[in-house]
Amino acid sequence: MNSSMLLARNARKYPMNEAVICQGRRVTYKELDELVTRFSHALLNLGIKQEDKVIIFMPNVLEFVVSYFAIQRIGAIVVPVNARFTLSEVEYVAEHAQAKAIIAHEAIFAAVENIENINLKIKSGTKKEGWHDFDELIENATNTPIQCLLNEDDYSTILYTSGTTGKPKGVLFSYRNILAVAHMIAIEMEVKPESRMLLMMPLTHSAPLHLFLMSAVLVGATNVLTPTFTPDLFIDTIEKEKTTHFFGAPVAYLVTASHPRLQTADLSSMKWWVYGGAPLSEKEVRYLQKAFRTDNLTCVYGLTEAGPSGTLLFGHEHKEKAGSIGKRAAFGTEIRIVNDMGEDVLAGEIGEIVLFGEGNMVGYYRDEEATKQAFIGEWLRSGDLARVDEDGYIWIVDRKKDVIISGGVNIYPKEIEDRILQFEGIHEVAVIGVPHPEWGETVKAVFAAKKSIDIEELKAYLSSHLAKYKVPRIYEQVEALPRNASGKILKQQLKVQAITE
Ligand code: ATP
Repeated sequence: MNSSMLLARNARKYPMNEAVICQGRRVTYKELDELVTRFSHALLNLGIKQEDKVIIFMPNVLEFVVSYFAIQRIGAIVVPVNARFTLSEVEYVAEHAQAKAIIAHEAIFAAVENIENINLKIKSGTKKEGWHDFDELIENATNTPIQCLLNEDDYSTILYTSGTTGKPKGVLFSYRNILAVAHMIAIEMEVKPESRMLLMMPLTHSAPLHLFLMSAVLVGATNVLTPTFTPDLFIDTIEKEKTTHFFGAPVAYLVTASHPRLQTADLSSMKWWVYGGAPLSEKEVRYLQKAFRTDNLTCVYGLTEAGPSGTLLFGHEHKEKAGSIGKRAAFGTEIRIVNDMGEDVLAGEIGEIVLFGEGNMVGYYRDEEATKQAFIGEWLRSGDLARVDEDGYIWIVDRKKDVIISGGVNIYPKEIEDRILQFEGIHEVAVIGVPHPEWGETVKAVFAAKKSIDIEELKAYLSSHLAKYKVPRIYEQVEALPRNASGKILKQQLKVQAITE
């Protein structure tokens, strides 16, 4: 079974269930399957073959979903590319993935208009010379069912990581990987044919794509898509479409929490408020529970390379353990915390999270060395350092790459960041290591606040709560911290800036 055939199955089982709702368009499973079949024929007619790589460069729109399943139906491999990428970044992915074709959407077309290293180009919206027209291709193709003979170990997708820690890497998934993750969410979060999944985070990322879109298509649920995210649109869409599940980066929740309309909005349809991709502190969790009037804020922890299946912290567990990533691995996944040799650490000690499950990627596309480094046997290294508390709950200490080593001592920025966030007025912070001639690295805090912060006061506050070596030596107040498309703070960029300054 592959994911596109699941869609065909649901078109037979639930023909009239709405599959996609987006920008005023409502498409049933039967209609979606017909669009996918027609577009698959169009791709075949254009010469796309099994295992060819096809880039999707689109926001969350119906055309994304049609392209995704059509590419898979003919056994080609989908390469979704971050809609915020610049021309040179898209060209890097095209070159690395050896892409045969690109399908671009009108709204972000300007970025790739002059792409040179792909010959076969398709565009939605207004017609453009040199580009095939998306709608015309569908109109002119037949609707004869396509017999798909793929199995679970065939390749489905290459997802390029957001590159917060270096150049984007191509994470290669088989159908087994993505279906494992879809089953996991369907089971853990009660996704049913009546469920209405709200997809506002970019489908070019593994969580919205595999956790939400795929689990919905697995069971025949409805996908409500929006091409952008704003707090107003978030609230409006929940009220209008009566959605039941939402996945968002912490920052999506945080920016909406202070919106005056939230207080009176009708949120009664929502059953699962899911966050992940970055941590939320206990203080932030309490604030969000109150703002969204829910006790079912659910944390998912994972990484692209794991599908992203990792751990879950359910709503009721937030009472005692907000800030932890949960007690157990998600359905179909196992978790351990190990030392550098791959041996389990003792309870309470810090080690690296490693994961095992069918969601784990096949490997990094065309990068054997990085693939070798990513695994200890069959266990995937997460790059996240964590410890387990006396009740068995896992707490992330920090990312391995972000640990600051000053005078030979390990300093975990997250601990300092959590403390700085307790200081009145500060709402965003990143603590980084900057090179120092004597100590190797020294600690710097970059933060954003609603008012001007007295650094001496902040320093005194931190000195009373943290050991001296952890208290930042350098401070910088900025308007806002740089973030990637999924809302993650770009620490690497801050480090480069600090060095060049
Ligand atoms: P790159 O791999 O290029 O650095 P990235 O870091 O954005 O990009 P992702 O796979 O999107 O790649 O991020 C996974 C990481 O995000 C995890 O390893 C972990 O550090 C962090 N993370 C994910 N979920 C959570 C969570 N619930 N709580 C805390 N941290 C999380």
